[in-house]
Amino acid sequence: MTYFTADYLYAQGQLLEEHYLLVEEGVVQHIAPLRQLQPRAFRDMVAFEDAVIMPGLVNAHTHSSHSLLKGTVGLQHALTPEYVAMAARFAFCQLLRQGVTTVCDFLEVPDPDNRLALEIVQAAQAVGIRLALVKALPGQTSSTAGLEQWMTGLDQLAATAVDKPDLLTLHAGIDKWHPTLLKDSFALAQQWSADRHRRYHYHLTPTHLEREACFADFNTSAVCALDQLGVLDANGVGHHATWLDDEEMTLLSQAGAGLVMTPSTSLSYGEGCPRLVDALTSNIPIALGTGGWVRNNRGSILDEIRLVTLFQMSAFQRQAVLRPQQMLGLATEAAGTVLGLPVGSLAPQEKADFVVLDLNDWSLQPHNKLIHHLAFSIASTAINAVFVGGKRLVDTGELLSVDEQAIMQTIRQTVEQLG
Ligand SMILES: [Zn+2]
Repeated sequence: MTYFTADYLYAQGQLLEEHYLLVEEGVVQHIAPLRQLQPRAFRDMVAFEDAVIMPGLVNAHTHSSHSLLKGTVGLQHALTPEYVAMAARFAFCQLLRQGVTTVCDFLEVPDPDNRLALEIVQAAQAVGIRLALVKALPGQTSSTAGLEQWMTGLDQLAATAVDKPDLLTLHAGIDKWHPTLLKDSFALAQQWSADRHRRYHYHLTPTHLEREACFADFNTSAVCALDQLGVLDANGVGHHATWLDDEEMTLLSQAGAGLVMTPSTSLSYGEGCPRLVDALTSNIPIALGTGGWVRNNRGSILDEIRLVTLFQMSAFQRQAVLRPQQMLGLATEAAGTVLGLPVGSLAPQEKADFVVLDLNDWSLQPHNKLIHHLAFSIASTAINAVFVGGKRLVDTGELLSVDEQAIMQTIRQTVEQLG
């Protein structure tokens, strides 16, 4: 077991002074005041000076396979296993350095033999980030045989990749919706996920054009279509969620279904910002994601917090719409709840994933409003160390698990070869 302490521990929305965090086998045992410790316990203490320990961030939606497509309009033909291997490493290294300890990665391209999925799994294991991999039914699928192939692939992936609850979880997902397959695809995803106590995931009309297509196909909105088919439930998580009307909000709330909002992606499509305040008021479980890297070139969940907050202020024409604790929660414990994983909270039996922040970083000055700064003014330069399962993976801003320079060199070569 190891004890960790710092000037402040940020836990359950509070800054605790003179406290420690006890970690055993990668799991938080408890947080308690230092004065309760026996003197000999300090031999196993890791103490960070001028520092804050806060929960690791959760990026609830990305597409790591697209990460090297920044600045392009999409080069799907380049998504070979070799390319995806480097793209996933690139994405996971960047996320981990930016304090993300859990990532939900949505693989939506055809991958019948699981070669792409396995490359993503191997990349996450090499970097050390906690991965929730969604193997989604590709949007191109239009036949029952395609559905069966997707399910077979999921089963084979679960058998091949070790589905370890501590670092890797596999999830079923649905990309674009096919009118004749919608009910069957959701029913299969529901059942597969229920058998494994997992969430299932689906894209929710990120653009107004897709929303219009949904009305053309189903004669109603996306959430209403799911409700009418009887496949809207608390185990499902809708991703992107740019366009939601009041009726959809009510249905999601009644079903207890989770949402992942991707503000940068929504805005980069030229769409509106997600209705975060309205969704929170409706008690819909919410998490944040960075979305695809073509749309979000920085892949920063801290950016998402700030961006969506500013847009809610603008929408409601008020300065203080969302509290910093609430916004930090969307990228930590609330995200763990949405994904159905024990992450995002420094609490007993939660995974010991945390970030150590440098209190001397300019972005955290002055210290009188520190929780506000953690949510809204923090820069990635403040991230000094990152731990996943109690294991240090970033130290003084550098990755310990992989050779960053070697990865960058290989990425440049990979992209040059592809042209
Ligand atoms: Zn997406």
